[in-house]
Amino acid sequence: MAWFKKQKYTTLQFSTKKSERIPEGLFVKCESCYAVILASEFEKNLMVCPECGHHHKFPVNKRIALLTDEGSFSKMFEEIRPTDPLGFVDSKKYPDRIKAAQEKSGFSEAVVTGTATINGHPVAIGFMVFDFIGGSMGSVVGERITRLIEYATEHRLPVIMINCSGGARMQEGILSLMQMAKTSGACARHAMAGLPYISVLTDPSTAGVMASYASLGDVCIAEPETLIGFAGPRVIQQTINQILPKDFQQADFVLKHGFLDMVVSRAEMKDTLTKLIEYMEPAPIAETKK
Ligand SMILES: [Zn+2]
Repeated sequence: MAWFKKQKYTTLQFSTKKSERIPEGLFVKCESCYAVILASEFEKNLMVCPECGHHHKFPVNKRIALLTDEGSFSKMFEEIRPTDPLGFVDSKKYPDRIKAAQEKSGFSEAVVTGTATINGHPVAIGFMVFDFIGGSMGSVVGERITRLIEYATEHRLPVIMINCSGGARMQEGILSLMQMAKTSGACARHAMAGLPYISVLTDPSTAGVMASYASLGDVCIAEPETLIGFAGPRVIQQTINQILPKDFQQADFVLKHGFLDMVVSRAEMKDTLTKLIEYMEPAPIAETKK
């Protein structure tokens, strides 16, 4: 037996992390400036930080409620469901990954499409679901968007896509990449019919999605600070062997370089879409036949 024993002191440990000291649900911490915000105020402010204006990720259901008239959104093409054409297995089997994504996100795939009205104007609209495998575009996403655009062309409706994606879905290989051409073709036919398409880019809007329908809008709008690009900055830096500007691929930088038409805050998005639809609204079929 030891003569002397180290006395054990119990000390109160205070966490240095702000988020751990705050009762859950009462306050939230801004991801950008770390300001502590009252949860109710954060919700009221559409998950935008009142201190620095940082736009946090916004759930799809809230976005549907924010941008479309109450109760007007009606889902379409939900019957198109994902399959596993390649029998793909990474750390998980692809069907298991889909099932987990469906449970996590509450959506059947990474895009939800349908019709709605925006301040009374009928539109065909799609929302990408980032919580579903990074909002990646597989065969179902491509097919739903293509059918949405084709429906809009047929019924002479403006198309609005709310984009949020990490790119093509690698678990579907080349079938995923083919969606780029398919959706772009639908956009072209819609444009040839003289009908408008507005693309809204939310953080992040990148890779195969950005390189196809997301960048093909007659008007491309982004939320502030949205990451917009094809390859990530590290890959580009290594390829061209040059140091990139600090705000590279951020919405304001992209706007300044002419690849974007507007940067619009979340709170002003519905009014902006309304004005654009009113400006570009297609004439009813009867009038065009005169
Ligand atoms: Zn902030």
